[in-house]
Amino acid sequence: MNSKELFAKAQTLMPGGVNSPLRACKYVKSEPVFIENAKGAYLWDVEGRQYIDYVYSWGPQILGHQDPAVSEAAHKAIDLGSSYGAPCFGEVALAEEINKLIPSMEMMRMVSSGTEATMSALRLARGYTGRNKFIKFIGNYHGHADAFLAAAGSAAATVPGTPGVPEEVTSHTLLAQYNDLDAVKAHFEASGDDIACIIVEPCAGNMGLVLPAEGFLQGLRDLCTQYGAVLIFDEVITGFRLSRGGAQQRYGITPDLTTLGKIIGGGFPVGCYGGKREIMEHMAPVGSVFQAGTLSGNPVAMAAGLATLKRLQECDYDALEARTKKLTDELVAIMKEKGQAVSLNRVASAFTMYFSDKPVTNMIESGQCDSEAYATYWQQMLAQGIYLAPAGFECAFTSFAHTDEDFEKTLEAARKVEF
Ligand code: PLP
Repeated sequence: MNSKELFAKAQTLMPGGVNSPLRACKYVKSEPVFIENAKGAYLWDVEGRQYIDYVYSWGPQILGHQDPAVSEAAHKAIDLGSSYGAPCFGEVALAEEINKLIPSMEMMRMVSSGTEATMSALRLARGYTGRNKFIKFIGNYHGHADAFLAAAGSAAATVPGTPGVPEEVTSHTLLAQYNDLDAVKAHFEASGDDIACIIVEPCAGNMGLVLPAEGFLQGLRDLCTQYGAVLIFDEVITGFRLSRGGAQQRYGITPDLTTLGKIIGGGFPVGCYGGKREIMEHMAPVGSVFQAGTLSGNPVAMAAGLATLKRLQECDYDALEARTKKLTDELVAIMKEKGQAVSLNRVASAFTMYFSDKPVTNMIESGQCDSEAYATYWQQMLAQGIYLAPAGFECAFTSFAHTDEDFEKTLEAARKVEF
């Protein structure tokens, strides 16, 4: 079956034909290609067409697909059994490695997705502080747990309202515009005694890439310290992408709790939350905040995650950043030559090229970008074998597997796009 036939069948079996909404490619007025195989920087669809990948499973595959060390570790682990539901070596080894690279995660717990990590961290912050409210930022996405589905970014921004989420649940969710420290201060001044935590993407990746303004993260840190609230960095995207120690290392701000996902699973389903020992010890069975998981600490995912983190220590982050900067500078120049107003946000190996003539610093500005122009760009890039996120409000990722030739081919394709 080709992609068209598969999508037709999929739509009879799954809502929208997909298991996660953006994959349906509605936002770019297209249909998805179905992937059969992935290796290095490339994807192949079921019709054998090759694509240079800039999605990388939405971030996890920073080493490229099927990195030999990661595949070998996963295969070896499978040969020892796929799941035990009992403690295993891999959990300890991965936790130790994470702790080495992100020292603020003194203790941690493995779960199976980023959503589980963030919802558990929120529960823990509430259990620890005995407070109910929390602050989240408009356009930040923390997975699909009820409390976070208020002004969320990513695919959640494309659906009207949040049917299925009782108002009582989101009534504790206090919203602020990203990079607006005054709005956060106002929340604390109004209800500081009942704010359990701030959860923030330290560099936002779900309204397109949006960098934290100078002093923003430090301001959040100071307010949390002043009011006894927990600062949670949701590093599901930024962890091991912005640097080996994540956004917290890059920006030099230490949160109380951190949530991870994506890269730490090496392409397998994993999430993790952790932080200060004093807070983490409120989790059962030591404390009384409850959270559990049948597949938590899955040995195959732990092995793939550990191999990924080890491999990353041999990788040159600065070189990838410099190459990504060169790629994006040239992309912007090409678009400008075509008379397209674009604005670029980039950090490390992540970027978003917005079709807008203004800088993008929050969700309002991200929402004002030209989605028609992005759809045109996306469709024509895909037709030339360049696989970008099927929505303008997502990040593009480069990987250690991308070659200079891949980047050159990408630029060649961009030169041919007609608006
Ligand atoms: N937090 C952030 C910052 C994310 O980008 C995502 C997913 O993209 C999540 C949490 C949820 O992770 P998952 O999709 O693994 O549930």
